[in-house]
Amino acid sequence: MYNEKVMEVFKDPKNMGEVENYNGIGTVGNEVCGDIMQITLRIEDNIIKDAKFKTFGCAAAVASSSTATGMIIGKTVEEALALTNKEVIEELQGLPPQKIHCSVLAEEAIREAVNDYRRRVAEGTAK
Ligand SMILES: [Zn+2]
Repeated sequence: MYNEKVMEVFKDPKNMGEVENYNGIGTVGNEVCGDIMQITLRIEDNIIKDAKFKTFGCAAAVASSSTATGMIIGKTVEEALALTNKEVIEELQGLPPQKIHCSVLAEEAIREAVNDYRRRVAEGTAK
């Protein structure tokens, strides 16, 4: 069902785990295939210094989170927010139609993590 690129990323995902000293965290899920995705970010001077993920879910969700985190490291917060699941799918050279929603999770988790970071900054609790 998945192409070779997706399987390659799924079998050897990058950026797995949790960023040490993260200052933004986002957790999202979908009920369709029961995926749960957590993304942690380390943001310094408006740059995504590091991004990692913990995903419990299908191959599409794991491959999407690995790819999406890889795509935002080194980017500005605004660039990270502008990342769409369409770009993630392109990077993965396509996903089966019934698995498109799994790639949306990565986009949502990044947005959640940035929102969390901004909340911490507003509260003065960002490390
Ligand atoms: Zn899924």
